[in-house]
Amino acid sequence: MEKIMSFRQELFRQEKERMVKEQLIRRGIGDSAVLEAMQKVARHLFVPFVYRAYAYGDSPLPLLQEQTISQPYVVAFMIQTLQLQREDCVLDVGTGSGYSATVLAAIVQKVYTIERDRGLFEYAQRRFRWLQCNNIWSREGDGTVGWQEFAPFGGILVSASGPRVPKSLCRQLAIGGRLIMPVGKQGEEQVLVLVHRVSGKRWEQRKLGGVRFVPLIGSEGWEGL
Ligand code: SAH
Repeated sequence: MEKIMSFRQELFRQEKERMVKEQLIRRGIGDSAVLEAMQKVARHLFVPFVYRAYAYGDSPLPLLQEQTISQPYVVAFMIQTLQLQREDCVLDVGTGSGYSATVLAAIVQKVYTIERDRGLFEYAQRRFRWLQCNNIWSREGDGTVGWQEFAPFGGILVSASGPRVPKSLCRQLAIGGRLIMPVGKQGEEQVLVLVHRVSGKRWEQRKLGGVRFVPLIGSEGWEGL
């Protein structure tokens, strides 16, 4: 039995390594802290048991309550755009499985994460405890209002799309901090929007990807790379 277990662990390790090389480095993720974090966090522990074999595949996967854990490339791309520093505090909106929060926690000092769905929140919280992620604080609630108590944040990662970037989140950014979020109406094409707080009163918005990025969100066309 022990042999089978270690064989499985070894298999997951190899798949993770391949994911980092083929899905991330080859597509231009170059931030070493992001790559190290993606190499460190065991994604198979965050997906529902039945999908474990696909944990390192090039696609999003279903979670409970009709939610999804994003494609690895999308997680890495979004986190890279935040240009985080080790000493930053980061807000993660839409905890879901807890995967993005755990990747962030491998890069920065403190991560605060908010989930609206009680079931997902409780499940993620248990997972954080079990994995001994001592630098993640999570709560159940509406993430669009942020978490004022621990603001300002050096980075804010929003993994649920909305029609616009909530003002309250922009206000909780530290000066110099960045926020990334998919913006667009449900059912229509969404674009990733990067907000950079350049001063106390000025926020710069940039749309990322558009034509180049959107096809990367699905896994089609990337098989066999
Ligand atoms: N970051 C997650 C992916 C989550 S998918 C991961 O790594 O697994 C988006 C999540 O956002 C879902 O779990 C959904 O329930 C949550 N969500 C949607 N609207 C929200 C809101 N207003 N506040 C907090 N969480 C929200």
